[in-house]
Amino acid sequence: MRQCVRIISRVLVLALSAMGSAFAQATPADWTEPFPSFRIAGNLYYVGSKGLANYLVTTPQGNILINSDLERNVPMIEASIEKLGFHFKDTKILLISHAHWDHDAGSAMIKEMTGATYMVMDGDASVVESGGKTDFQYGKDPTSLYRPTKVNHVLHDGDEVRLGGTVLVAHLTPGHTQGCTTWTMNVTERGKTYNVVIIGSPNVNPGYKLVDNAAYPQISDDYERMWRVLKLLPCDIFLGAHGSYFGLEEKYPQIKEDGANPFVDPEGYKKFIAQKEQDFRTELSRQQPAAKGKTE
Ligand SMILES: [Zn+2]
Repeated sequence: MRQCVRIISRVLVLALSAMGSAFAQATPADWTEPFPSFRIAGNLYYVGSKGLANYLVTTPQGNILINSDLERNVPMIEASIEKLGFHFKDTKILLISHAHWDHDAGSAMIKEMTGATYMVMDGDASVVESGGKTDFQYGKDPTSLYRPTKVNHVLHDGDEVRLGGTVLVAHLTPGHTQGCTTWTMNVTERGKTYNVVIIGSPNVNPGYKLVDNAAYPQISDDYERMWRVLKLLPCDIFLGAHGSYFGLEEKYPQIKEDGANPFVDPEGYKKFIAQKEQDFRTELSRQQPAAKGKTE
């Protein structure tokens, strides 16, 4: 009996991992697990869950929100903003890290609730407006589709988003999605200015075809472009689309009102990029011989 259970569970694990390679994984529990909202530095705040990162940039003319997450997260984002003493309704501009459901499925709801202007990078805008259907990898996976959302303003590489004296710069860092965006801004804290980098995503997801990808032929060139861009960005405060990128859970308890800011981590940024680039190269060389074999 025990043997039987073990075999069944092994079959289940195999079946699930096979599904995972073609389709999205089940929703990880930490995506919808609340996390305290807090000030990172200057006018930049963390308002995300434990697993999905959201950032609020406050200005005298209203606020900018980065990422909308799943629709289930939206009430949590609203509560996080209000807890800090700001108003969700003051969200004037909505931005995203990239057009995957865990970062953009709640956008239609946030637009309805706040009237925010939705700005998305050109490579991701059509995916957002199709509700995920035109995504090169997950377009046919019903679990990763969401409400199609009208983009009010299409962004291009290097575009500046300005509000109330704050400037965010959109850097095209494609590969993970075709319009994957890394956001940079400056924040001032006690007279010192810091370069903030919010990484879009450097991950090669399970099932991503880096070679002979008919749906995204230039995918590996795009990843190469991303490594170049990320390595050139000056970074003091290291952030990203998921808290796991930059050690949110480890750094948050280290915040002290008058101590060093744990989110100032230029070395952590460099290490993270180096590790992710290495993962990409390992996966690329694993896929290359197979592709060569096919053409010979
Ligand atoms: Zn993603």
